[in-house]
Amino acid sequence: MVHLPTIISISILLNLIIGAFLLSLYFLRKQSSYLYWGSSCLIFVLAQITASLRLFIDLPFITHYIADLLIISAPLAAILGIHAYTQSEKQKLKLCAYLLGASAIVLLPLYSNSINQLITTAVIAACFSYAAYALRKLNVEHIIHLVLLQLCFVLHACIMLLQLGLLVIDGLNIFTFDFSQILAIILLSHIVITTLTAMIWPLLMFLESEQILSDLANRDPLTGLLNRRAFLTISNNYLEQANNNLTELCALMIDIDFFKKVNDQYGHDTGDEALKWVANKIKSQLREGDLIARIGGEEFAVLLTNTSLQKGQILSERIRVAINSETFIHQQHKIKLSISVGIITHKSGSNNINELLAQADKGLYKAKSNGRNQVVMMAF
Ligand code: GH3
Ligand code: MG
Ligand code: MG
Repeated sequence: MVHLPTIISISILLNLIIGAFLLSLYFLRKQSSYLYWGSSCLIFVLAQITASLRLFIDLPFITHYIADLLIISAPLAAILGIHAYTQSEKQKLKLCAYLLGASAIVLLPLYSNSINQLITTAVIAACFSYAAYALRKLNVEHIIHLVLLQLCFVLHACIMLLQLGLLVIDGLNIFTFDFSQILAIILLSHIVITTLTAMIWPLLMFLESEQILSDLANRDPLTGLLNRRAFLTISNNYLEQANNNLTELCALMIDIDFFKKVNDQYGHDTGDEALKWVANKIKSQLREGDLIARIGGEEFAVLLTNTSLQKGQILSERIRVAINSETFIHQQHKIKLSISVGIITHKSGSNNINELLAQADKGLYKAKSNGRNQVVMMAF
């Protein structure tokens, strides 16, 4: 059988570490969600310590009443942490304070009575159900798998409801069955799931915000493609690899033809949608390992890895045709678009990506002056 004091000690230790980590993140990032989650972990630690004191002292006001209020406060702080993620915790702060205040008043005359456990369990079950619901509203796109967290909260709510049911049955003396073993397992599950949630939740949120920060720095917000800076950094690595491995790569400069007219004729919003459409069309023709970026207003750069100049030209032609053979439709406007492309191989002797792109740009310039809607390969 699992040794409960060992589990409680491990849980206290883990929650202490995670709580301290989250609070330091708060001081670093000044993101209040970390403050709430960190506090939630530390409150849970205090709750476990105060409840465990039952074995040593006979002060039910502390070991039952205060412990119960702390146990209720932990999920409330976690709920505030969820809302803080969308900056909506201010409205919920009052509500949580009222709930805690109401629990404090209701539990005060009951703390030496077994009903206090019943009420505490009901409040916690409600808190976890609400936490699972609040998660649904989070607009998180990247790494985080909210389903996993929701599952933790739902499971927790179910376990608390089961405990509630057992306590009621036990209280009513319907069966003569001894529930103490089952209740001990439930307590164990409560501690394990809380600790698990405390570990998963901030870690995923941390990864999520890291991803957002990296996207803000490296991606173009309109198309979601890499921006110029990120493209240049990554491309230089690709170029070095190609030189070391004696493989060939091609660079493409792509510019939408007469794009100013699209804006002038249909408005900037339609222009933005057209840019996204073109970006997706180019992307759809590329292979895994190729690199694409929006490096200027309506200009894109592409790096084709492991590609000879002939193959690169075929691929460029495919991209050009993909855009020109279809019609971009937006708000009943049917717009024909085309692109001009300049292409160059790294075997042209360019030492860095800027030189390579400058060469491809010469090809692009030629494509424009030759009448647009074409690919020009730069000889070397
Ligand atoms: P060319 O065939 O010579 O490339 O002609 P062009 O009209 O495409 O070239 P020009 O450089 O004169 O115009 C580019 C236009 O792209 C001007 C600018 O309004 C538009 N543009 C740049 N960035 C954006 C953007 O983010 N959204 C929208 N809607 N338009 C943009
Ligand atoms: Mg243009
Ligand atoms: Mg341009």
